[in-house]
Amino acid sequence: MQTKLSEKFIDNPKGKKADDILRSCVHCGFCLATCPTYQLLGNELDSPRGRIYLIKAALENSKFSQDSVQHLDQCLTCRACETTCPSGVKFSELVDIGREIVEPKRSKWQKLYRNMVRKALTSPRLFNIVGGLFKHASIQTTSIQATNVKSRALLLTGCVQPTLAPNINHVTKNVLAKLGVAVIETKQHECCGAIDQHLSAQNDALIKIKRNIDKWHAQLESQVDVIISTASGCGVMVKDYPTLFETDDPYYQKAIKVSAQTKDIAEYLLEKDLSTLITKIKKLSYHAPCTLQHGQKLPGLVEGLLEKLGYQLSPVTDAHLCCGSAGTYSIFQPTISKQLRNNKLHHLSSSKPELIVTANIGCLMHLSKGSDIPVKHWIELLDT
Ligand code: SF4
Ligand code: SF4
Repeated sequence: MQTKLSEKFIDNPKGKKADDILRSCVHCGFCLATCPTYQLLGNELDSPRGRIYLIKAALENSKFSQDSVQHLDQCLTCRACETTCPSGVKFSELVDIGREIVEPKRSKWQKLYRNMVRKALTSPRLFNIVGGLFKHASIQTTSIQATNVKSRALLLTGCVQPTLAPNINHVTKNVLAKLGVAVIETKQHECCGAIDQHLSAQNDALIKIKRNIDKWHAQLESQVDVIISTASGCGVMVKDYPTLFETDDPYYQKAIKVSAQTKDIAEYLLEKDLSTLITKIKKLSYHAPCTLQHGQKLPGLVEGLLEKLGYQLSPVTDAHLCCGSAGTYSIFQPTISKQLRNNKLHHLSSSKPELIVTANIGCLMHLSKGSDIPVKHWIELLDT
């Protein structure tokens, strides 16, 4: 795609990055076939290619209406388009830049509401008070300590997960202990920065991200061998840290190390001997989070691990499509979010499973709200 950026953006690092991404798009339209919002709304401006044109217009001649803001807001940042795109267009990086550029166009009330939600979700004290009302499940087993320690891991506990579903981190620590892995946990305030980053608060995101990089890099140098994430939404953000820095930025190399040594819990366990883990086989459906299959580019990872453990998973129609959770999307775009959840639950429950499992706290909470079938993190199957 040819571009002609305005003076305002031509010499600015974000403008240059956006320009490179725009130029990689050959406007073939393949991405339209797998975009959930295009499928639901049928409008090209709610497709990846349409949004690329809107961002291009904003960068070339600052043309951006309230309708355009709405089309960008309706994007889930699910990255299904990245999986489909034959030209490797880095859509999620582009849409974050696009949203930052159009942020000043928002009304004062819109800005205030978005800011309140962002602060509530990223302030552990506030979230613990409000989030406690929505608690999903309590801790179900006693804690195990690792004996005969073979390795050490830093566990990203997440900022909402300890309040909403504490059993996930509890079980993860027990499973790792059984495998001889000693765990250090991050504090709840060590948020990965994803919520700020995707709500156009890049400065706040960078403050958190730099603090994390400093601390976690030092821990990787002296205390731990690996960083483990059980929430794929946090995992993808940490793995994407290097994309947020210029290559000559002092944080870039440290971000590369933190990113390279971060693994989803399924990625980590796939390399281990799991024969000591007792599982009760159940009839399951698995919901693959977009952040794992499209964001971290690990399609089939959990499915393969569960099959290795003896589970038989029912095939799920349209498994590549988002469930509608998408970070704060279910708060700001409730109608589309519910439609996507209904479609997803219809497909997940059609085989009449005893349990639906997933790999991300956001998807888990969102699906649970509409499901008669219990929804859990798949790691919870491994602690009995
Ligand atoms: S598939 Fe890729 S190259 Fe084709 S229009 Fe979509 S983003 Fe552009
Ligand atoms: S990120 Fe998802 S919703 Fe957004 S344009 Fe791509 S496929 Fe569509």
